[in-house]
Amino acid sequence: MLEIKNLHAHVEGNDILRGIDLTVKPGEIHAIMGPNGSGKSTLSYVLAGKEDYEITEGSITYNGKDMLDLGADERAAAGMFLAFQYPIEIPGVATMTFLKTALNAQRRARGQEDLPTPEFMKLVKEKAKDLNVSPEMLRRPLNVGFSGGEKKRAEILQMALLEPSLCILDETDSGLDIDALRIVSEGVNKLRDPNRAMIVITHYQRLLNHIVPDHVHVLSRGKIVKSGGKELALELEENGYADFIDEEAA
Ligand code: ADP
Ligand code: MG
Ligand code: MG
Repeated sequence: MLEIKNLHAHVEGNDILRGIDLTVKPGEIHAIMGPNGSGKSTLSYVLAGKEDYEITEGSITYNGKDMLDLGADERAAAGMFLAFQYPIEIPGVATMTFLKTALNAQRRARGQEDLPTPEFMKLVKEKAKDLNVSPEMLRRPLNVGFSGGEKKRAEILQMALLEPSLCILDETDSGLDIDALRIVSEGVNKLRDPNRAMIVITHYQRLLNHIVPDHVHVLSRGKIVKSGGKELALELEENGYADFIDEEAA
């Protein structure tokens, strides 16, 4: 489904990703862990097609298509979704309106008609309930004054509506208390599907108690330096990242 080969990326002249290889198959959950500054967010941005990143070597293939030829919107239309580490605030746009615009933009990009408003309302209410997103929250401007937990729940709600085939979650656990973490994780787990893959990026192991990965990779200084099963996350929890940070970075 997703094949990353020897991926190198520069940001403002700095070599941030330095040869990443990763293969993700449908139905799999891959966790990417690593110390701060190792390139986790950069990898998620590069996958989603955010501008400002120069790919100097390597390839990203998704469902047989070269993603490096496509912009962020086209990648989203192809089924990729990135949940940001820091969700952006959009003053003046109600969350509900934002969600409707996002869903219809995806449908148009796929040559489908807009979802009629009554059907959209029914769908959004059903999914919002699962994620403990209140009607009041749907009326508020997107992310403006939302707590950390509310922002993440709004983001997962967007993901649930768009039904992407590849979900990339960048530090979805950051800033969440235990209850919010449980709600968000349950929402994500509901989206687990044999046809859908997920890349879960996290600094801490605790999220992986809730969203149990099939594979765990450690990213250090822009490279995957170790891969294993879910037990690797527990090992990291115990030993920290000390083994993976070299003198130059320390
Ligand atoms: P992580 O998500 O693992 O904490 P990031 O991907 O955010 O790491 O950052 C990796 C490295 O890239 C860091 O050293 C960071 O300072 C650098 N970096 C990220 N974005 C930029 C940018 N826009 N300009 C310059 N350096 C950047
Ligand atoms: Mg960071
Ligand atoms: Mg990050």
